[in-house]
Amino acid sequence: MTVKTYKQMKNTIRIIFTIAGLLLFTGCVKKKSASADYPIQPVPFTSVKLTDNFWAPRIRKNAEVTIPIAFGYCKSTERVRNFEIAAGLDTGRFQTIYPFDDSDVYKIIEGASYSLQTNPDPKLEAYLDTLIQKIGLAQEPDGYLYTNRTIAEKNGGKGLHEWAGRNRWEMDSVLSHELYNLGHLYEAAVAHYQATGRKSLLNIALKSADLVNRDFGYNRIKVYPGHQVIEMGLVKLYRATGEKKYLDLARFFLDIRGPGGRSYNQAVLKPVDQTEAVGHSVRATYMYSGMADIAAIENDDAYLNAITKIWGDLVYGKMYLTGGIGATGGNEGFADPFVLPNMSAYCETCASIGDIFFNQRLFLLHGQSKYIDVLEKTLYNSMLSGVSLSADRFFYPNPLESNGQHLRQAWFGCACCPSNIARFVPAIPGYIYAVSDNKLYVNLFISNDADINIGNSNVHISQKANFPWDGKVEIAVNPEKKSNFILNIRIPGWAQNEALPGGLYKFTDMNNETVKLVINGKESGLKVIDGYAMVSRKWKSGDKVEVYLPMPVRKIIADDRVMEDRNKIAFQRGPLIYCAEWPDNNTGKVLDLVIKKDAAFTTEFDPSLLEGTQVIKTSGSQTKKTLDGKVEMLGDEPVKLIPYPLWNNRGAGQMMVWFPTTTESSHPLPAPTIAFMSKLKASKITKELPSVNDQSEPADSNDQSVSYYHWWPDKDKWEWVEYDFEKPEIISKTKVYWFDDRPDGGCRIPDKWEIQYLKGNIWEPVSTKSPYTITRDGWDSVVFNPVKASAIKIKVKLNKDFSSGIYEWTVE
Ligand SMILES: [Zn+2]
Repeated sequence: MTVKTYKQMKNTIRIIFTIAGLLLFTGCVKKKSASADYPIQPVPFTSVKLTDNFWAPRIRKNAEVTIPIAFGYCKSTERVRNFEIAAGLDTGRFQTIYPFDDSDVYKIIEGASYSLQTNPDPKLEAYLDTLIQKIGLAQEPDGYLYTNRTIAEKNGGKGLHEWAGRNRWEMDSVLSHELYNLGHLYEAAVAHYQATGRKSLLNIALKSADLVNRDFGYNRIKVYPGHQVIEMGLVKLYRATGEKKYLDLARFFLDIRGPGGRSYNQAVLKPVDQTEAVGHSVRATYMYSGMADIAAIENDDAYLNAITKIWGDLVYGKMYLTGGIGATGGNEGFADPFVLPNMSAYCETCASIGDIFFNQRLFLLHGQSKYIDVLEKTLYNSMLSGVSLSADRFFYPNPLESNGQHLRQAWFGCACCPSNIARFVPAIPGYIYAVSDNKLYVNLFISNDADINIGNSNVHISQKANFPWDGKVEIAVNPEKKSNFILNIRIPGWAQNEALPGGLYKFTDMNNETVKLVINGKESGLKVIDGYAMVSRKWKSGDKVEVYLPMPVRKIIADDRVMEDRNKIAFQRGPLIYCAEWPDNNTGKVLDLVIKKDAAFTTEFDPSLLEGTQVIKTSGSQTKKTLDGKVEMLGDEPVKLIPYPLWNNRGAGQMMVWFPTTTESSHPLPAPTIAFMSKLKASKITKELPSVNDQSEPADSNDQSVSYYHWWPDKDKWEWVEYDFEKPEIISKTKVYWFDDRPDGGCRIPDKWEIQYLKGNIWEPVSTKSPYTITRDGWDSVVFNPVKASAIKIKVKLNKDFSSGIYEWTVE
């Protein structure tokens, strides 16, 4: 349970190949010709006005809280000043940590532009104008825009980021992020143009894209983007302008990628030859989304086949129950199939957003509801968990289990996730409907009023639902004039006994309630094609369709190959995954719970909890280790579950999604050993310190599923941990298990260690009967002449070049 902090710090220093995403389908969608884009087109969010109590308040808070504070951080962290210096309005060196910090400003402009369309705000619009003016002045005369290099050149080359490369573009396949920044600029520019009708930012983007188009090419610079996103951005420029050169450039950047590169940025194979989701998961989903755009616009089967296979690999073996993706922090990305640790799950917020982009595009290509099933799961769980109810705190990773080490932050050095939330949330209404020829797709159930053009007629649609709490949906269809079209209403997998397409997760039993369809008061037969209930008729004003989606509480099991979830169950109701969190459960502890497979449960709406939420009540037992090493189950106690995305709004503490069903799969409370009953002290006090006596034994010295204490980044010095006993004890043996995260991490087994005990006021070394060994992947024990002591200390000499850490330290 320490994993994250250490990883985050490590990543911050080591690098952080991060970033974020993008939103498509704004207000745009200009049709070129019948076959020149997705066969199904989303209904832009500007045509859909939310009237619900779940998303509408969140979008409002995004406008009132998230966007203003995000701009505030861009200013206080000097991201904006970078543009001012590059523009010649100020002097100095590059002010921030990463060369991709420019992208945060672009992403928040994109979010603000979306937001302006539904929440007009002249002050915000004026602020965007001043920012855009600075961006324009920061752009070099030939169109180049990258504040780090421009500022360095003003300072005689000083302050050029080590990732930037001596010459423009040459390091982009690695870490310069020049094209990455531009991808976000292009998306922001199209959003701003659509929102305001002004071309100020669009002209900056086009000038930049024209430079990229002049500099890159098969006979010119042939460098693929180290972090994808420009592919999607260029497609948007193409849609906004009709200029094919931007589309060709998007394709160029995909076609020149690989083979022979790194899996981290999806360059081992050419994109068309890829079949597996690998590497950094944000880069991956942005690339797959760009590939989908090419597949749609150019009718390219090779791209289509590749993304269809990749989707299967991702959803059938690499997706968390919450829809989160990316299992490991080291690469911020995918692990092998079925390797899905819960507490150390990465599930970056940006990756959830990228996954939503990807699934939306696959739906627009294929018209099948399974893609929206995945989209909805991610939207309601792993994406939504990325932001607090107050809209001013954010998660970077979204784990499925916590021992209290996770807490949403106001901002990050690498701020991709908050800026991605800022731009994604206002565009959510754009995912509800889509149209093709004479079909209207209803994909999400969110109360709204929408004006939609189907075929040649305008139709006003009014949807009423109390989602995600209730499965009843009413859709009022009011065409301007009588018209024939097909209403395709998505019947979610969860309403039909499917937890996730492909069976990585399954419900433990069949639910026999069926979906009910009522048209103008009369129950109608259900004809489901590609996951949609199809209603084809001549619609007239006043027509009403009602759908009843069964929404019972369901228990879920994972595929047996997911080791972490063996002999465990989880709970789902509608699209929401549930978790137990510390404030709702008796002792504030939930990690030691066992919930039997057949545990009974009830569900009810609690209007006072977390701004109103459906809860699940069941029962379970705490488990506890005994001194003789057995695990005992304590008495039955009530257990209350809340929706996963709402956790961590009441402070840090324990949380769990997957509940052990047996004592063998449980994490029992520790036994009352000398070590566990002692008061802990250490040379460095961190949240992870309690790991040393929590009695969780790792499988090896780099087991990321078990918590550890570490001294990173300190090295080459003596450190210590101390147990102060409750009362003097006679002790004669101790053992320790070291943390060592080679080859990538910063910790190794130490050079030396020794034990001292407190005799009166004096620390004395113990008189050992065996030598101090130093072992990786196992225990080091030392037996010594018995002493009566009031405290014991382990002293650890860190390696010259590495830090060290401890999983567990015991005393007998
Ligand atoms: Zn992120």
